[in-house]
Amino acid sequence: MPDFSTPAIMLRRIPYGDHARILTLLTPDHGKISVFARSARKDCRRFSGALEPFRILHAVIGDGRGRLAVLKEARTSDPLEALRSDFRSAALASYWCELVLSGTEEGAPQPDGYRLLHGALTALDRRHMAPAALNILFQLHFARLSGFFPALTRCRSCGVALDAAPDAVAVDIASGAMVCGRCFSGYGTHPLHSLSKGAMKALLWLAAADIQTAGRIRLNPGTRDACTRFLEAFIPYHLGRRPRSLDFLTHIRSRKKEEGRICHVG
Ligand SMILES: [Zn+2]
Repeated sequence: MPDFSTPAIMLRRIPYGDHARILTLLTPDHGKISVFARSARKDCRRFSGALEPFRILHAVIGDGRGRLAVLKEARTSDPLEALRSDFRSAALASYWCELVLSGTEEGAPQPDGYRLLHGALTALDRRHMAPAALNILFQLHFARLSGFFPALTRCRSCGVALDAAPDAVAVDIASGAMVCGRCFSGYGTHPLHSLSKGAMKALLWLAAADIQTAGRIRLNPGTRDACTRFLEAFIPYHLGRRPRSLDFLTHIRSRKKEEGRICHVG
C-alpha cells in the first residue's frame, strides 16, 4: 500500500510500550483505520499535539508491511478549542466518538459517517446548535447510517398513522417500530419505550434535518429529555453494549440535577 494523506478524526488512542500508541482514526475514504504511531508519546515535533481525543487532523499513513498501518505525519486541521475547554462538550464528543468506534466496520469507506461526525464536532465547538438537540440529531443520523433507524410513522400492529394515534405511543426497542396506545397490551414480549407524540414528531423532524437547518429548533425540556432517554436506550441496545462514555454523561447530568441547576449537556 503506498503512502496516502487523508483528513481524519481521532476516535481512540491506546498506549503501546513506553513511547508508542495505537490509534483508531475515522477517515472518509478509508473508513475506520487503526494505525501504529511510533514514538508518539515523545515525538512532539512530528505530531505537534495532533494526537488528542476527537482531534480533527490531517494524517499521512504508510504501509505497515503486513502489520498495522503506520502514522507517518499528523497535524491538527481544527483544534476545536472551545469544545475541548468545556468538559460537558468534551463528554458529548467522547460519546459520539465511542458510538462511531463501536458501530463502524474497519476498512470500508465512510464518507457520510465522516461528514456527520465532523459536522457535529464543529457545530458543538462553534455552538451552531444547542448541544442537547445536536446530540439527538447526531444519534438519529448515526442510527440511520448504521442501519437500525426507528420506524416512527405508523403503528406496526394496526397500521394507524402517528398523527391519528392516541397520545400514548411507544417504540419497540428491538425492532424500532412504533406501537400505538391501543396495541400496547398483547404486543409480544419486547421491551417498549413510552414516548409522547410530540417527542416522536421531534425525532422525525431532526432525523430529516441537517445541522444548518436544525440550528433553529427549540425543544421544550420535556421533549428534549424524552428524546434523549429514548435514543440512549435504543442505540446501545442495537450496538450490543453500553458505551462507557454514556455513563459519564449520565453522571454529569445527575450531578447537575442534584445541585438544583438547569444545565443540560446533551
Ligand atoms: Zn396500533
